[in-house]
Amino acid sequence: MSPPATPAVRDRLRIAIQKSGRLSEPARALLASAGLSWRESRDRLFCYGESLPVDLLLVRDDDIPGLIADGVCDLGVVGRNVLLEQAGERSEAGLPPVFREWRALGFGGCRLSIAVPDGWDWQGPAQLAGKRIATTYPNQLRAWLRQQQVEADIVVLSGSVEIAPRLGQADAICDLVSSGATLAANQLKPVLDILQSEAVLAGPVQPFGDVRAELADLLLRRMDGVLRIRDSKLLLFQAPREALPQVLQLLPDAEPPTMCPVDGSETLALQALCHGAMTWQRLEDLKRAGARGLMVLPVERMLA
Ligand code: ATP
Ligand code: ZN
Repeated sequence: MSPPATPAVRDRLRIAIQKSGRLSEPARALLASAGLSWRESRDRLFCYGESLPVDLLLVRDDDIPGLIADGVCDLGVVGRNVLLEQAGERSEAGLPPVFREWRALGFGGCRLSIAVPDGWDWQGPAQLAGKRIATTYPNQLRAWLRQQQVEADIVVLSGSVEIAPRLGQADAICDLVSSGATLAANQLKPVLDILQSEAVLAGPVQPFGDVRAELADLLLRRMDGVLRIRDSKLLLFQAPREALPQVLQLLPDAEPPTMCPVDGSETLALQALCHGAMTWQRLEDLKRAGARGLMVLPVERMLA
């Protein structure tokens, strides 16, 4: 890997996202909802930013941390699993950290888990001592084993980790799991998670020293606005003043509501930004507690 670049002064921000895969569509959607738009190139490798000087580079997810390290791109959307693995690799090689997680993005959720054959009576990490564990995440597995003070052999594979025990290559595995169906099909069971992963915005450890700092700031503020209101709804309703304690108890996920009296009466008109799901069940509970005229509105944009 080439040395960490002191990025040349640039007046555009370049963000790497996965070209095709689990993270590509949600990454684009998130950036688009932060107000970015692009002109696609014919080879679909580079998208020129039109609404802001922010361009996209479409690459394999595994290349993203390295591209940030080399200064080829400024930011990237990548799984925490990939980012930490490559950070671990650098640290094992004695290299200084050059990229880090800037924001968790709330999609692409999965776990990096230890899984063992169905027949094992799982007692805890000590049971892995002296065993062979297959993985494509050797750095995170090594760090975790060290932390647990367990000595085991790490069998590094480039893929199809889940069949390693059946092929006699390993006794257990350490792999990404979301539903667990692949494990079950291979007579394995997950026994513990060593990492909770999701897509993250990755960026350099050092701040930008040019106009990219302002662009990154603007983008972060907008993304924070988008992330904050994801699943959020504006709830409008009226309630008698005396019912307020019961009603507010049913809204633990709401920001402090705005309220005003209706025509000088003991009835209040309220509006509250709620961050959890606003189901029919919840509305019925609120009505039973005294709320009336309940209305749930979508929130499109928010600027704190
Ligand atoms: P590429 O061709 O870009 O290298 P890939 O095959 O490595 O693609 P995907 O399978 O699209 O990548 O996974 C990308 C990321 O999605 C993973 O690194 C992980 O962070 C996340 N992810 C979420 N759920 C899962 C899952 N069930 N299995 C694997 N990855 C998952
Ligand atoms: Zn990949």
